[in-house]
Amino acid sequence: MQKKQKGVVWFRNDLRVNDNESLTNSMAENESVIAMYCFDPRHFEQTSFGFKKTEKFRAKFLLETVTELKDNLEKLNIALLVYHEKPEDCIPKMVIENEIDTIYFQEEWTTEEMKVLENVKSKISDSVVFKPAYNQFLFHPEDVPFEINFIPNVFTQFRTKCEKYSKVKAELLVLTMAKANLITNDGKIPSIEALGFSDFVSDSRTAFPFHGGENEALKRVEDYFWETKKLGVYKLTRNGLIGKDFSSKFSPWLANGSISAKTIYWEIINYEQQIGKNESTYWLIFELIWRDYFKYVSLKNGNSIFKIGGILDKEYDWKTNKSAIHNWINGTTAEPFVNANMIELKQTGWMSNRGRQNVASYFAKNLLLDWRIGAAYFESMLVDYDVHSNYGNWMYVSGVGNDPRDRKFNIPLQAERYDGESKFQKLWLQQQLF
Ligand code: FAD
Repeated sequence: MQKKQKGVVWFRNDLRVNDNESLTNSMAENESVIAMYCFDPRHFEQTSFGFKKTEKFRAKFLLETVTELKDNLEKLNIALLVYHEKPEDCIPKMVIENEIDTIYFQEEWTTEEMKVLENVKSKISDSVVFKPAYNQFLFHPEDVPFEINFIPNVFTQFRTKCEKYSKVKAELLVLTMAKANLITNDGKIPSIEALGFSDFVSDSRTAFPFHGGENEALKRVEDYFWETKKLGVYKLTRNGLIGKDFSSKFSPWLANGSISAKTIYWEIINYEQQIGKNESTYWLIFELIWRDYFKYVSLKNGNSIFKIGGILDKEYDWKTNKSAIHNWINGTTAEPFVNANMIELKQTGWMSNRGRQNVASYFAKNLLLDWRIGAAYFESMLVDYDVHSNYGNWMYVSGVGNDPRDRKFNIPLQAERYDGESKFQKLWLQQQLF
């Protein structure tokens, strides 16, 4: 008799049950399916620039996300096995214990993720099949009108061709396994303390008062699109600084894959059909294309996105002045607008896009500090850290990436334009002399 096929979905930054190719394929191709997630201890350690790779804000968001994923998978009769170990240590054991034939996972191409995969593969029998999938794009790599090596260095060229020649694939159906598929297991989701943090209460001023998890992401879409109809005015409000509704706030869920860019895209189309299409509805799609673009930039350029010269291999005289870095991080520079944004980040793990552009420009273009240090600090603090968007945007602002104009922000002018009455600065600098 033929052996029953057994598959495992190794969840990485695709922490959802909806529109997830790895999950759907595993269920279609196997008699039995389990799922796993590893809290990799390296993700909570200090990196070479002296910051923890993940700070408390993203750690808590991730714990909430995995908790919801476990519940949602259980409803499909799939058990999520959770480990607090390196993937290369726990996956080989798990494969043997559960007699796994196929491992399904999201394809990642940045150095650390590739090294982990290589390590995992080196410890597993050749008979086990590895099936990667690109779960993270709006325009799937097989649908973009470019060879990866010829992805344009200018966003507009990428966007216009994709808009003309590519189609966003339909969302995948969610399947269900038979009840008997659900196994019991004693893998526990670690506490926040086990990840090295004390629990904390969110700052009441935060612009991101949300929790992690797929259901939370879908709730936010419902609220932003249908309840408040803020999508219809997005282009007019997106440069705002205070409160939860000036922009979609989808980024933290997109970053860890609690929602797919495709799900958001098709809901925008639905909104356009039911409520109406305008510049704002288009602009949210435009921003999702930026997100895709930075993924393609990193896919094309590999490790260069982490190098000081960036993808342009530019030479500048970067400084590493410790007190200037300290002042930037702690919001004690000569620029109140930079300070307010940096304090917001430190207190909440969130900063608006307008804020990010200004503080990054100030760091790299005014203080002339090594942009990789600023990027590493963002990596640590941001609740929505995404390797491609973070390093892509930092390179862009620092003049070593995809900005053909290589601009420097005039910070006082930006503060006047976007915070004319200083409401935002007062909100975050209230304890300081303002
Ligand atoms: P919205 O304005 O509602 O946009 C909707 C979605 O479009 C976002 O959720 C995001 O997925 C995408 N998007 C919007 N702007 C950008 C952009 N400039 N680049 C890429 N995608 C974009 N975004 C991250 O998700 N993770 C990061 O680590 C990150 N680091 C950044 C670092 C710097 C220096 C800068 C200037 C920007 C960075 N961004 C990053 C991009 C952008 O600031 C955030 O995506 C945005 O502020 C998130 O808020 P939102 O979801 O309300 O965005």
